[in-house]
Amino acid sequence: MIRTVYDTKLLRLVALHGKAKSITHCSYSTHFHHQDAFDSYSYATMLQQAIQNRNPNSGKSFHCHILKRGAPLDLFAQNVLLNTYVHFHSFDDATKLFDEMPLINTASFVTLANGFSSSGQFHHALHLLLRLFREGYEVNQFVFTTLLKLLVRMELADTSWSVHAYVYKLGHHSDPYVGTALLSAYAVCGNVGAARAVFDGICCKDMVSWTGMVACYAENYFHEDALLLFCKMRTMGYAPNNFTISAALKSCLGLEAFKVGKSVHGCALKACYDRDLYVGTALLELYAKSGEIAEAQQLFEEMPKDDLIPWSLMIARYAQSEKSREALELFCRMRQSSVVPNNFTFASVLQACTSLVSLNLGKQIHSSVLKVGLDSNVFVSNALMDVYAKCGEIENSVKLFIRSEEKNEVTWNTIIVGYVQLGDGEKALNLFSNMLGYDIQPTEVTYSSVLRASSSLVSLEPGRQIHSLTIKTMYNKDSVVANSLIDMYAKCGRIDDARLTFDKMNKRNEVSWNAIICGYSMHGLSTEALNLFDMMQKTNCKPNKLTFVGVLSACSNAGLLDKGRTHFRSMLQDYGIEPCIEHYTCMVWLLGRLGQFDEAKNLIGEIPFQPSVMVWRALLGACVIHKNLDLGKVCAKHVLEMEPHDDATHVLLSNMYATERRWDRVASVRKNMKRIKVKKEPGLSWVENQGVVHYFTVGDTSHPDIKLIYAMLEWLNKKSREAGYVPDCSVVLLNVEDDEKERLLWAHSERLALAFGLIHIPPASSIRIIKNLRICVDCHAAIKLISKIVKREIVIRDINRFHHFQHGICSCGDYW
Ligand SMILES: [Zn+2]
Ligand SMILES: [Zn+2]
Repeated sequence: MIRTVYDTKLLRLVALHGKAKSITHCSYSTHFHHQDAFDSYSYATMLQQAIQNRNPNSGKSFHCHILKRGAPLDLFAQNVLLNTYVHFHSFDDATKLFDEMPLINTASFVTLANGFSSSGQFHHALHLLLRLFREGYEVNQFVFTTLLKLLVRMELADTSWSVHAYVYKLGHHSDPYVGTALLSAYAVCGNVGAARAVFDGICCKDMVSWTGMVACYAENYFHEDALLLFCKMRTMGYAPNNFTISAALKSCLGLEAFKVGKSVHGCALKACYDRDLYVGTALLELYAKSGEIAEAQQLFEEMPKDDLIPWSLMIARYAQSEKSREALELFCRMRQSSVVPNNFTFASVLQACTSLVSLNLGKQIHSSVLKVGLDSNVFVSNALMDVYAKCGEIENSVKLFIRSEEKNEVTWNTIIVGYVQLGDGEKALNLFSNMLGYDIQPTEVTYSSVLRASSSLVSLEPGRQIHSLTIKTMYNKDSVVANSLIDMYAKCGRIDDARLTFDKMNKRNEVSWNAIICGYSMHGLSTEALNLFDMMQKTNCKPNKLTFVGVLSACSNAGLLDKGRTHFRSMLQDYGIEPCIEHYTCMVWLLGRLGQFDEAKNLIGEIPFQPSVMVWRALLGACVIHKNLDLGKVCAKHVLEMEPHDDATHVLLSNMYATERRWDRVASVRKNMKRIKVKKEPGLSWVENQGVVHYFTVGDTSHPDIKLIYAMLEWLNKKSREAGYVPDCSVVLLNVEDDEKERLLWAHSERLALAFGLIHIPPASSIRIIKNLRICVDCHAAIKLISKIVKREIVIRDINRFHHFQHGICSCGDYW
């Protein structure tokens, strides 16, 4: 957008130069001491004054006056009158005058053609120029500049080589005006080499030619050349104008050469161009890109505010640099000014509402959008959909989606991402297949979102299919997509496939390393996770917060205290990463599971902010394992203060009192649970067989095979007891007999799913189960034994991690 504004402005500048020269040139040749000519001359002067005074009626009134007096104007003065009409866009009068002029010359043609050209009447302009050629008028440099500008405007810049040949034939190629027009035309079609050849051929280059060439380099991304030429121009004594400076700034931006940019800024200050719209806008861009948003803001405040561009740019940069409040404030200020926002302004301010998750503001902006009638604009409607999706009103997004006539890939992605973030993977995947049906090309955003959706599914099949689609469309080479593939395979329990994807990547970034390290850690494969971390440190990828979450959880999963301590220290010392709550939680859990309660407590004391519920829950888990009842009760109280409805913690607290035989406390915990209506989230497990997903709730009796399943469970119970299984009834909170408690334990959803799997899934394959909650102690112990009895691998993904049960042991080492 800026480019077009810039070009037209530049061309207009060149045009003004051309015209000014023609008029001065003619006026000197007029013998102003001659009486008639003096009249013509004085009329011409008055007309030019009328133009300067912006008085549109003056042309016509002068014209009447002249006609009344009956004294004809000379050709020069008539051309000035023609120019006056053209200047005030009175093209009917201009054409009439042109047709009635007793004598016309090249200047008359050029004046009218220029007027037609700059007011968008290209064919009239071209027609006039062709007539000039046909009727044999003088073809001077002004004809060429007008023609070249016209070709650029008609988007026919690539035909300028034919004009070039003619220019060369008539020997105008060294003329600075023609040369500059020619190089600008070559610049537009990206022919930088030809532009430079023309530039080198211009003798007596003026500031406009230098500017043209600097701009040509900058517009065509030859940023270094642009800056070199800019320096050369200055050393040769040419003072750059606002266009030169803004082109140089653009190149600084392209090269991210912010220091150079500041020196160009200095140059703009010296030349008093810092308040110019183009220079100011380019400076805003530069400072915003370099992250100096405060500087950008100061510049903005000093700029004239009657143009949309600086407002729009500043709002966009605020919205993109997590300064959403500032974006909104500026938008409000803008609404109080006379400047009218366009689709880009609305899209940016809506982006700010999205970041603030402010539905209310989003709705207010929506009504302003409707008022100015921009709701059907695809950028605006995409941004609106995003606000509603991120603020939890996906139904409104869907309404806008259905209504939008112009849907691009961003439109589809917005809704798909919206569903993925809501955790509705199935809807996201349905939309994805619709998108493919409409022949819309998915992008890396689409692929990474639908892979994320697939990673929460029980079935691996959708993930695999999307993987093969990415291979077909070559998107598997894209690092964002490949990273999502690693994550999807790891979360779907296929850590080997995740590793394969990781190994095949050409270019890995931090996210790739994090995905594989966290993947291994989640699968309890701590050694692999730590080996990969060592490998990562030998690359250019810098570990970040998330890397250390993976590393520390690998250490805590494997009980590696020394390594854990070393990495925890090194994080701040060697990498300057302040530990956040996830890191503290890993360390507390690591210390706690090894019984180092004093150190764990001290570490919690060192946390520079309010410890979250996660930290207390981790320590509580450790206390339960080590039967540290006193500390356990303290932890449980902390958890319940923050999350009074946490059923698992109520159960643990009650069990701790029961261990101490303090039945009054047990009763009061239960009473309290009833009073505040704590509801246990029902356990739910999924298992897939031949593409069909089977769901089991705790105590389920609805499955068609339920009789077989309970028979299988009875057999498993018998076999496990023979192998030494003793049910841990403390898991069951209900006030029932132990026999009943045992029966309830065997109806836990993961055991139902397991029994189903043992009946239906062929013996050679592993059984994969997903559970919505943490797996309970008793199921964990039972399933360990079952894996030995049935000689099969059983994989359970619970809310936190994967448990690989095989040969009677679990990959988590009984700490989870
Ligand atoms: Zn259980
Ligand atoms: Zn386990």
